[in-house]
Parts: sequence; C-alpha cells; structure tokens
Amino acid sequence: MIDLDRVSKTYEKGLPAVDEISLHVDKGEFVFVVGDSGSGKTTLIKLLLKELEPTHGIITVNGHVLNTMKHRAIPAYRRDIGVVFQDFRLLGEMNVYENVAFAQHVVGVSNRVIRHRVPETLREVGLAEKYKNLPRQLSGGEQQRVAIARAIVNRPKILLADEPTGNLDPHNSYEIMKLLEEINEQGTTVLVVTHNKELVNQFKKRVITMRRGSIAHDVEEGGYIEA
Ligand code: ADP
Ligand code: MG
Repeated sequence: MIDLDRVSKTYEKGLPAVDEISLHVDKGEFVFVVGDSGSGKTTLIKLLLKELEPTHGIITVNGHVLNTMKHRAIPAYRRDIGVVFQDFRLLGEMNVYENVAFAQHVVGVSNRVIRHRVPETLREVGLAEKYKNLPRQLSGGEQQRVAIARAIVNRPKILLADEPTGNLDPHNSYEIMKLLEEINEQGTTVLVVTHNKELVNQFKKRVITMRRGSIAHDVEEGGYIEA
C-alpha cells in the first residue's frame, strides 16, 4: 500500500529532513508516526502526497511509483488519499454540509451522489444534526470531524493525518483518535502523525518513531513509547 525504499529529502540548504527511510505499510494498517518537532514527519506526509519530490529513493503508493508519475496523473492519485491537518482548513463561509459537499463537487461527483453521500458521511463522524452550522459555530473537535468527513467522503484508500489533535483538548483528542480508528476498521489504511505520546499509548497500534529524519523505532501493535 505504502512503500518507501531508501527515501531521502533534502531541502535547498541543510541536513536531510528525511534521511534514507525504508518503510512498508500494508493495506488496512493503522500506523502512528511520532517524533520531536523537526524530525521529518510533515516532510514524509508531503512526499506521500507528491507535494515534494524525494532527493533519493523510490516511493510507491497504491501501486503507483510516485517518482515517475506524470503531472496529469497527480489529481487522480490524490483523490485516493484523504488528508487531515492540525488546523482543520475548513472554508469559513460554507456550512458543514457545503464543506463536505464541496470536496465531492470539485472532483466531479454527481449531485445525486453528493446528496446521498454527504449526510451518510456526516452520520459516520457524528455530526448529522449540525449540517447547517458554520465552522465558527462548532467546537474544535467538531471542526476536526468536519475535516475528517471531507477527507473520507470520496472513500479514499489511505487517510493521512498530520497532528490532527494538535489543537484539541485531551477529551476531544481521544474522541478524534477513536474516530480515526473506526475509519481504519472500515478498511481504510490510516497514518497519523502526532506528538501526543499518552494518546498513542492508549491505542496500542504500530508506532514509528522518527529522529532527525530517520526511523529510530518501529514497534508493532501494542507498542508502548516512553512519555
Ligand atoms: P516535523 O513535521 O517532524 O516537525 P518537518 O518535516 O516539518 O518536521 O521538518 C523537518 C526538517 O526540515 C526541519 O529541520 C525543518 O526545519 C526542515 N524543513 C521543513 N520544511 C522546509 C522547507 N520548506 N524548507 C527548508 N527546510 C524545511
Ligand atoms: Mg510537522
């Protein structure tokens, strides 16, 4: 599903942000990626989205070798990957329904499918009653649920989340992580970047620890990391 073979990324100046990483994630896995600020986690996500090109190494995702992928194939490739960020990135003038519907509209999904699929997805994330609210009329946890709905509404094979609980309190962080776990249990491969070691330890999943661009540890399900 995700395969990195000795992948490095060096920005214009300085040391490699990602340094010779080899990594395999199977279909259906749930993986945490942890590590200090600056250890290369976001760079790894951007490489997987083909927002950045590796300096060295081969990246294969969903059977596509990203290194040789044509420009015109990138939008279709990204459609199979849902992404969630720390800061939600919702459209402030659109309500909950419209934020999720828009993600379908821009990729050419028919209105008939949108009318069916948006409410269904909002139910999955527990926001069915708030479909008319604007983002500013929601709590942080609810806003992140909208962002997750938007990320999964087109049924991606992979969901990438970069510090999805970074702006949330412990209770909402736990609830969001539960939701990501449920999405994984429905068959989506999920990769979650997070700082929150206590939360990681509550979930008993595979944990990849990055340190200065390299993988320092990769422990299987049930792995525990020192707080
Ligand atoms: P993390 O997400 O783990 O905090 P990043 O992937 O954002 O780490 O950053 C890894 C390293 O790459 C850091 O040293 C950071 O300063 C550097 N870096 C990130 N983005 C850029 C950029 N656009 N240009 C130059 N250096 C960058
Ligand atoms: Mg980051």
